[in-house]
Amino acid sequence: MAEIATAAAALTRQGVPTFGLFIGGEWVESTGGQTFESRNPADRRDLIGRFQAGTAADAARAIRAAETAFPVWRAMPAPKRGEILYAFGQLMAQHKERLAQAMTREMGKVIAEARGDVQEGIDIAFLMAGEGRRMFGDTVPSELPDKWAMSIRQPIGVAGIITPWNFPIAIPCWKMMPALVAGNTVVFKPASDTPHCATLLVELMAEAGFPPGTVNLVTGSGAEVGDAIVESPDVAVISFTGSSATGKHIAERAGRRLKRLSLELGGKNGVVVLADADLDLATDGILWSAFGTTGQRCTACSRVIVDRTVVDRLLGRLETRARALRLGSGADPSVDVGPLINAGAVDKVAGYIDIGRSEGELIVGGERATAGDLAHGHFFAPTIFSGVRPMDRIGQEEIFGPVLSVIPVDGYDAAVIALNQTRYGLSSSIFTSDANAAFRAMRDFETGIVYINAGTTGAETHLPFGGWKETGNGHREAGHAALDTYLEWKSIYVDFSGKLHRAQIATPPD
Ligand code: NDP
Repeated sequence: MAEIATAAAALTRQGVPTFGLFIGGEWVESTGGQTFESRNPADRRDLIGRFQAGTAADAARAIRAAETAFPVWRAMPAPKRGEILYAFGQLMAQHKERLAQAMTREMGKVIAEARGDVQEGIDIAFLMAGEGRRMFGDTVPSELPDKWAMSIRQPIGVAGIITPWNFPIAIPCWKMMPALVAGNTVVFKPASDTPHCATLLVELMAEAGFPPGTVNLVTGSGAEVGDAIVESPDVAVISFTGSSATGKHIAERAGRRLKRLSLELGGKNGVVVLADADLDLATDGILWSAFGTTGQRCTACSRVIVDRTVVDRLLGRLETRARALRLGSGADPSVDVGPLINAGAVDKVAGYIDIGRSEGELIVGGERATAGDLAHGHFFAPTIFSGVRPMDRIGQEEIFGPVLSVIPVDGYDAAVIALNQTRYGLSSSIFTSDANAAFRAMRDFETGIVYINAGTTGAETHLPFGGWKETGNGHREAGHAALDTYLEWKSIYVDFSGKLHRAQIATPPD
């Protein structure tokens, strides 16, 4: 039987560690006895470890552990729960570099961005630790004499947390920190592309003092483990980030059980560049948003909607700078663009290049990058198409790779129409030196996040994060709004009149 490693402590089989599930405070093997591998997308020869291919029975075990832990955890005063989150934030800060290196190795983003990803986790841990001392309800006057009226918020129960690979520390923290400070317990199913990051995170949570059963980790496939979590009648709330297709699938099944569900799905984020924009600044913002994390951010910019009078000047700048971007392993600090997550992602991007060639003009990129060591990883050249029309497929569909479409339009009104003509609504931005146009954009853009004179990425943890339309279902992560997903309202009336008062019905005189 394989030995279970928590960190890289116990090495098995040619020095490759095998990691466990974390259930009820113990690192355990899956009941199914199967494992799967996690490899470095920049170099597939680099095997990070083997992970438990969890089963529905493992998910059920984890849910039971979370149910058992719930009454004790919810009874702990919220400020005390917050202190454990704070200790966890401090531990993450202490281990920031180790977590960032592990992230770059497992999912490929360049090391500076991996550090930022960990920092988002630290920020939300500290923010939510503070919420343990707030988590306010309302105290309001009653319409009746000698009556007290107030509302409080209470935890819901077991929270199922299902996350993607693109922010493998930040997104789990953005979900688990509010869930836990609110008094819920957690069953966490990470993406199968990033089980190592999830394991390191949960190790630190255990070290920070979350009691056994409060946080449970079940690695394994979405179809097996994710499905079991969504279908379980004992999981009261689900928080999911990932593709729109999976999100809809989960929503149908959670809907049948009337479960609380928070969805954070796809995006097709646009940058508008008006004729009066600072084009150098716009170029900086567009490149960072389009090719950072190799275009694999939910807030990545994949459309530039530009006033026709400046399109050539902007395109010239974008092309020169895109050609100079350096591809390679994100562990090398001089690298600008890391690999895509897996072979399927490379195929998907390549498929959109074929579509793009028939819809616009290929300016730069458009091919797999396989020179030298790149041949061992999933690399794709940063790609720009020009002359794209708003309703073209590459202008409408989420590619989730380093592909940018430039869409020329005539003036602000046409830009707003093009920007909003999409089924998604996560992030948007405008570059302009006209304050009036900036304020119109703040009003007109149909997205949950709007940037003025900046790219489409760069959310801060104390503001609500989430999208309109098919990007989500109205919930928000981050900020105090994140707590809404994990709390139930309770309205309380205290009558100290000594009489029977009936609301909305006149009380007879004495
Ligand atoms: P998925 O939606 O397939 O995966 C996200 C998470 O859901 C993973 O943990 C996955 O597990 C799990 N999952 C998969 N199927 C089920 C299921 N039936 N029930 C419950 N959970 C399930 O996204 P991908 O990672 O495959 O990425 C594909 C696309 O998703 C991207 O091209 C992009 O369009 C979008 N995406 C959007 C993100 C965003 O932040 N908005 C983030 C990541 C992706 P497993 O890994 O085991 O399959």
